[in-house]
Amino acid sequence: MRYSAATDIGGRRSVNEDSFLADGRIFAVADGMGGHLAGEVASNIAVDCLRDIGASRSLERALIDRFGRANEIIFDRARSNKERQGMGTTLTACVAEGRRLYIAHVGDSRLYRLRAGRLRQLTKDHSLVAQMIERGHLKPEEAADHPQRSVITRALGASAEIRVDVKVKEMLRGDRYLLATDGLAIAATDEEVASIIASEEELDSIAAKLIALANSRGGADNVTVVVFEPGSLPAAPRVGRITKAIGAFLAVAILAIGSSMAWRYLSSGFYLGEYGGRVAVYRGVPGSFAGFSLRTLIKETDVKIDGLPAPNRERLSRGMPVKSLKDAERAVEDLATLTREKR
Ligand code: CA
Repeated sequence: MRYSAATDIGGRRSVNEDSFLADGRIFAVADGMGGHLAGEVASNIAVDCLRDIGASRSLERALIDRFGRANEIIFDRARSNKERQGMGTTLTACVAEGRRLYIAHVGDSRLYRLRAGRLRQLTKDHSLVAQMIERGHLKPEEAADHPQRSVITRALGASAEIRVDVKVKEMLRGDRYLLATDGLAIAATDEEVASIIASEEELDSIAAKLIALANSRGGADNVTVVVFEPGSLPAAPRVGRITKAIGAFLAVAILAIGSSMAWRYLSSGFYLGEYGGRVAVYRGVPGSFAGFSLRTLIKETDVKIDGLPAPNRERLSRGMPVKSLKDAERAVEDLATLTREKR
């Protein structure tokens, strides 16, 4: 993993309340709030709580636990000291494990991914304006200069309990990732950010350029960026073998059951089902025909069937059709949310 990080106080603030962590495996940014001796303390506690996350059977669980611990510490400190009321912080964190990137997020700092020249924000802002856009009460273009754009709806330290967004993404060779506090989004458009990250330059100079861009627009806020990109990734596990095996099966199936049935398989879409007690994405159709399986396992997920409400489990056991892989991804994310809500 190659990576680089930079932070800057900006042009108008007297203190840098941002913190970051980058060690080649764990990457995080935190944007503290609450004024002197509060904001920077909160963001520091947050990134500190992520250090030394070991390999774990469930990194998602581990991340949620660490976020919870940080929340507890900051909340207690804020409560015990009047001057620190309003103390809190955002925290957006990634842990790279093999081909997977485990992501946990609270607040309005952002994780972006540049893939094939396209920049995509992988985290959802927990901010008032983002909420208003989602509810159709505000247009994205109206949000850019919105006076409440820095009001966040979730922060570590704000309440006794914290809800953490967690997801897992597959990394591909050539991906570039950017974590940034809102000092960047306030100053620059996604297009500007994308063109800097997409440049062929060293990650150090990309980080420096992003900071310089924010400061060139007045540096109204602290700004912190962490850029990283996977080097060589381990080969995709067993799904490839399974796909091959089923490919061979399919060849037999075509001969055995004729082209109309094979056509039905090949032209069929995707569906969600079960594999090893977890939600999985398949291509094909559920069930079998004349003893032949007409499906291919495309992707395994971490979402346990057991943790889902009964109606969802039933739908999955029948095979839950989805329109596309993208649609499948969304459905999996929703199911993951359901399992967390149920806990
Ligand atoms: Ca900020």
